[in-house]
Amino acid sequence: MNLFLLLRKIVNTPLMPVQGTWIDAAVFVIIFAVLSVAAGVCFFVRSPKLRQNMRIITRVVSLGVFAVMFFRCICLLKTSVVGVTQIGWDDVSAFGNFFLFILIGSFVLVAGNIYCGWMCPLGFLQEISSRLFPVKTNRLRFLSLGIIFILGSVLLFLFRPANDFFTENIIALWALALVIVVTVVLLNPAREYVILKTKYAFLVLYVLLTGAGVWFSEAWCWLTGNDIDYSSIIGFFVIFLVSAVIPLAWCRYVCPTGTFLFLLGRKSLLKIKATDHGAEIGNTPRCLMGESSRVPESRLMCIRCGTCAYELNDKKI
Ligand code: SF4
Ligand code: SF4
Repeated sequence: MNLFLLLRKIVNTPLMPVQGTWIDAAVFVIIFAVLSVAAGVCFFVRSPKLRQNMRIITRVVSLGVFAVMFFRCICLLKTSVVGVTQIGWDDVSAFGNFFLFILIGSFVLVAGNIYCGWMCPLGFLQEISSRLFPVKTNRLRFLSLGIIFILGSVLLFLFRPANDFFTENIIALWALALVIVVTVVLLNPAREYVILKTKYAFLVLYVLLTGAGVWFSEAWCWLTGNDIDYSSIIGFFVIFLVSAVIPLAWCRYVCPTGTFLFLLGRKSLLKIKATDHGAEIGNTPRCLMGESSRVPESRLMCIRCGTCAYELNDKKI
């Protein structure tokens, strides 16, 4: 079967075009609805079980919207950087590149980084990986990382583009860098608080590359776009598999978009504080993002997943 046909979307022209342009208000409306439900459940539903069930629903809907229904780029940060350069001479495109970021950024400013916990398809698929086949011993973890790194490198070599190896493979190389970061974490667990800060360096690098006009794919581009981009597919599978070794590893140590949203979320109106820091299982924090009283940086990365018990603006919920 032609893979291109398999990845085609149900909706290929805007359902609700804004003033006849390529900008589709339908995506905007659906995301607004999903994030409103997410914020409502996250902050006002007490039952963790119900919160988790609702979180599954919002992420399945989101996956359907981005992977099956619409062609819609969700490189929030990258398209925003491009949008900035279009202001003044192509305001419609500037708005088109900005509108998802403005919507999602507004929710993050009110509710914290709810996008990562309740919507992002890559976060959802990583979580599936970490729950389906968690790698539990260190020996197996190192073995898995070695296999993933070799496999990713071989695939990268086999499918290397004819033109520019670096720019056309940035996301696959970025994912291989994640394997190295995770290996360093496993070798130095006590230093995780330092390694968690590498994501700021990745964010700076990402903005510099994008600002310099280097256009590269993201790990989700093969899913949300209509292109068969091998770098994106290889990057995705490396990230997916590494998440079985450390849950949401990409989100914790590398993801530039998530890092930006974490920074934005620190200014959020509604703040939550996990109240079960002590409830760690052995040395493994219960929280998927590694929230732990021992690692202060991890407390800044809450994705509002609703798994733990928490207080909202110092009030128990
Ligand atoms: S950190 Fe990145 S990959 Fe993870 S959920 Fe957030 S945007 Fe998605
Ligand atoms: S502290 Fe962890 S478990 Fe609790 S809501 Fe935040 S990300 Fe989820």
